Amino acid sequence: MFGRRVTVTGTVQGVGFRPFVYRLARACGVTGRVRNDAGGVTVEAFGPEAALDELTRRLRTDAPPAARVATLHAVPIPFEAAEGFVITGSRPSAERRVAIPPDLATCANCAAEVADPADRRHRYPFTNCTDCGPRFTIALGVPYDRPLTTMAGFTMCPACAAEYHDPGDRRFHAQPNACPACGPRLALRDPAGAAVEGDPLEVAAAALRAGRILAVKGIGGFHLACDATSSAAVARLRERKRREAKPLAVMVASLEAARALAEPTPAEEQLLASVERPIVLCRRRDGAGLAPEVAPGSPHVGLMLPYAPLHHLLLAAAGVPLVMTSGNLSEEPIAFEDAEALARLGAIADLFLLHDRPIASRCDDSVARVVAGKPLVMRRARGWVPRPVVTRRRFDRPVLAAGAQLKNTFCLARGDEATLGPHVGDLDNLETYAAYEAAIARLESFLDLRPEVVACDLHPLYLSTRYARERAAALGAPLVEVQHHHAHAAAAMAEHGLDGPVLALCWDGTGLGPDGAAWGGELLLARADGYERLATFRPIALAGGDRAVREPWRQALAAVLDAFDGAPPLDRLPLFATVPPADLEVARRMLAAGLNSPKAHGAGRAFDAAGALALGRGRARYEGEVALALDGAAAGQAPAYAFDVAEGALRTGSGVDELDLRPTWRALCDDVAAGVAPGLMSARFHATLAAGGAALVRRAAARVGGDRLPVVLTGGCLQNARLAEGLLGELSPDFAVYTHAHVPPGDGGLALGQALVADAVRRR
Ligand SMILES: [Zn+2]
Ligand SMILES: [Zn+2]
Repeated sequence: MFGRRVTVTGTVQGVGFRPFVYRLARACGVTGRVRNDAGGVTVEAFGPEAALDELTRRLRTDAPPAARVATLHAVPIPFEAAEGFVITGSRPSAERRVAIPPDLATCANCAAEVADPADRRHRYPFTNCTDCGPRFTIALGVPYDRPLTTMAGFTMCPACAAEYHDPGDRRFHAQPNACPACGPRLALRDPAGAAVEGDPLEVAAAALRAGRILAVKGIGGFHLACDATSSAAVARLRERKRREAKPLAVMVASLEAARALAEPTPAEEQLLASVERPIVLCRRRDGAGLAPEVAPGSPHVGLMLPYAPLHHLLLAAAGVPLVMTSGNLSEEPIAFEDAEALARLGAIADLFLLHDRPIASRCDDSVARVVAGKPLVMRRARGWVPRPVVTRRRFDRPVLAAGAQLKNTFCLARGDEATLGPHVGDLDNLETYAAYEAAIARLESFLDLRPEVVACDLHPLYLSTRYARERAAALGAPLVEVQHHHAHAAAAMAEHGLDGPVLALCWDGTGLGPDGAAWGGELLLARADGYERLATFRPIALAGGDRAVREPWRQALAAVLDAFDGAPPLDRLPLFATVPPADLEVARRMLAAGLNSPKAHGAGRAFDAAGALALGRGRARYEGEVALALDGAAAGQAPAYAFDVAEGALRTGSGVDELDLRPTWRALCDDVAAGVAPGLMSARFHATLAAGGAALVRRAAARVGGDRLPVVLTGGCLQNARLAEGLLGELSPDFAVYTHAHVPPGDGGLALGQALVADAVRRR
């Protein structure tokens, strides 16, 4: 007989790990104990060596779906004649680190019970267990225990209580445990709040089939749902929600149903079925019956699988795929309280499917896609929040990082953990700003963290910057302003445990440089505490300032004026026939005089200009629409267009190289004039930027003597799979190249980088 202590680290608390160990120990025939510890879970087991080996092995291979075993360390200890196997309390020191787990998608066992007419939870929409169910969104405080969740008002019936207290049961300490006898219930209401007769699920499903719009209270907020195969229903939803063109997400009942609408790859299927259950961008299947209004003009569709029993039941009853989009008016935060939803969504939804389990924290659906065979989170919220990013560098003092203006998330960091808050959205109205403040306050209280350093962007007009200033003053904490692209670089470094220096290709739409210019096509030599700008894009003037972002023809005009020395062949380019001549003339004059035409270095600007030229589309209904359409249009592989790299030292003496796309614009104009297919032009343009980016990296690496330096690819443009895969293809295997995975490459990941930089700068 032997003894062994196994320490397990990773995401192993609040995910049913101890009950799993308990059952496993009994199955292996060992005695001993398991407890939560500061670093994770500690198992002390006694028995025959073979049994201990089996236990150790299966701790990793059989772990619960939401657990992430990072390390597993086994040491021999003296044998003890223990009686049975027990779950012991947490060590007091453990609790500080016990984060509230993220919300977990319904597990297969619970889904099977809900579908089983003989089970006491048959058709029960709030079924859950230690492997699944709401967590973060029902937590009111720490420790994560039922009295501190929105389940506090529900008293468990004897059957549920017995499960809850039985260490051998799948529902041992499952805080939201409930059943039809004791738990939350559904209710169906009309927009005036009056109860609607009949079985809520059946009536709601019938309404959906009839083309009505349903507001559904879910896990982290309300969805607006309608039949995704009905053009009329989707068009009505768009009109009422005032969402003209942005793609809408679709929930399907199963992977089979996903395959009927799209062509998910095996990696995409894995992501669809993951415990985080994000919306996953998949290639649409032609003629699959999805209403064209769901994702107009896009070859992709965002699909997700049901992640709550309510969704499983609703999808089954409706019998059609459902648009499931955030329950809000465009640009406002997602509604999460009943009264608020009735007030704000009353003019959009025909019916409200509600329940009496309150949502404590808003948390939107996350959005992800597969790039180069690996998952990439683009919007980080439900399923990921508040799981921390474990950093290699320890934070000296607790940091609050305020994030960006658009696609905002914030970050709270302490020790070796950085916790990104849920996606808040664009901070451009009062409602969103209030949601932002509330989310920060709540997460600070969950983590019991009082910031001693506050970080924000350089941009003085971001509302997040204003917030950071006020907070820093109120806390008496130092404020660190972090350049936008430096923060992007640092976010990638933090995610991958890179100390720097790294060569960071940071490509996005825009971010303020310390010189006051709009940066965004940057190559930085980055460390945590500083950076050097090595290269950027030759700028495009934005005729009319920000207006040019919504009217990419203005960017295309500036690009071709530059490329053809002021005499571009506009009459050969169909794009300009779509622009009112007077507008075109005003823009030309502005550009010639340099009036209201700030220069922008963003890589996103080049995509906008190329999209406008190649597709003949001069207007974007939302930021980036034309660039996205260009990405979507790309077909096949094609050689790059010509481009130049202007050596910084020769050109300006500043040492900053410039990717000069003037030869590209000229070649693209020739292709447009010759009627070349847009798919081919798009493929060539993407290949050009991949080759151009790689050329900048190689030159810079030679210049700084850094052929051994790791390369990180970051910024919103890296959501573009074709661009990211192109850059990876150009740079591997000469460089170790790192792309994002669980932290968004766009502004949704910015706060993590701000936190890392602020800590390093304060320490210096
Ligand atoms: Zn379950
Ligand atoms: Zn019960």
